Amino acid sequence: MSFVRVPGGGQTLCRFHEAEERLLAPYAMRTSQSRGRRHPESPHPYRPDYVRDRDRIIHSASFRRLIHKTQVFVGQPDDHQRTRLTHTLEVSQIARTIARNLGLNEDLTEAIALAHDLGHPPFGHAGERALAERMRGHGGFDHNLQGLRLVERLEKRYPAFDGLNLTYEVLESLALRSKHVTAPQRQEFGPNLRMLAESQAVDAADSIAYTTHDIDDALRAHLITLDDLRIVELWRRAEERARSAYGSDLSGKQLTRGIIRSLIDWLVGNVLQESGRRLAGLTDVNSVKRSASAVVALDDDLTRQKANLECFLLERVYRHEQVLRTTAVAERSVSRMFEELLRDATRLPQSLVARLPDESPERIACDYIATMTDRFAQNLYRSLFET
Ligand code: MG
Repeated sequence: MSFVRVPGGGQTLCRFHEAEERLLAPYAMRTSQSRGRRHPESPHPYRPDYVRDRDRIIHSASFRRLIHKTQVFVGQPDDHQRTRLTHTLEVSQIARTIARNLGLNEDLTEAIALAHDLGHPPFGHAGERALAERMRGHGGFDHNLQGLRLVERLEKRYPAFDGLNLTYEVLESLALRSKHVTAPQRQEFGPNLRMLAESQAVDAADSIAYTTHDIDDALRAHLITLDDLRIVELWRRAEERARSAYGSDLSGKQLTRGIIRSLIDWLVGNVLQESGRRLAGLTDVNSVKRSASAVVALDDDLTRQKANLECFLLERVYRHEQVLRTTAVAERSVSRMFEELLRDATRLPQSLVARLPDESPERIACDYIATMTDRFAQNLYRSLFET
């Protein structure tokens, strides 16, 4: 089904589009150039298209469920650990800062950021691994493509169509973020072209957000110490920056917070500087889409240093035996629920079965599990196996 943009809109929208022309860089995506939506809709009198997309995402059930989905630490060791929702909000604010300073479309960037993790299953990457394993040979599972599926089909909020009927550009961002390059869902979104600069800003922000907040959460959970982190050059240099900004006698939690704040600030500043250099001379959206390398990125030195920090996180946090123990339990429970739902279809919600008559039983079970929050999945597990 193709995309349609319905012309029109009153004076307010007209003024908005003119303001974008003045404010946005030539390589930014303009709202007035959107390819539109699958189902034709008249323009809203005072909410431009990407603002409307953002509002639809925030009002969706999938977005609300993010509050009870694991980011990294299954079982929420304390009330201050990031959830998938607070991670999403951190990504959104960093991405908007990047977008505004590079002259990109901030509304589109915000909509993409708020949608970027909608398709994550319960229990973080443990849930994703379990579903990917179960769905091998049945079309696979990828959280980006699941996000696309949610906003295109599974959300039911409008009488006239399934899904949220988002603009092409927001759907494209979900499709092109998928690592499954040959997936049929990617094919209509220019699979061989690069993502919009707005989407690349969200990618950069996502990486900055999870790297820095996973350190914060790991310190809080006593999986690592400040001393452990000092073997990483990037961390040591961020500590020097924090001490010169906030005083050399910083210690304890104030020191941790100061270093993380300095690190975010440093990384975002570097993205702005490097991306400004890469974007200089690009004259339109097409030149972004056809550029040989990413246009929003860290420079080579910080890319290398950040990769070292991520290696540290992988070895010391994501593969910490305490984390592995809880994620192994979560992975097994997702697999077991999947098998049970396949064996006994009466445990599936009839609404889901009835809505998707053309889907395989595996896809229906996968959709059901993928939409669950951690809490819902734990309750269902108990009701299936412990009563
Ligand atoms: Mg994310």
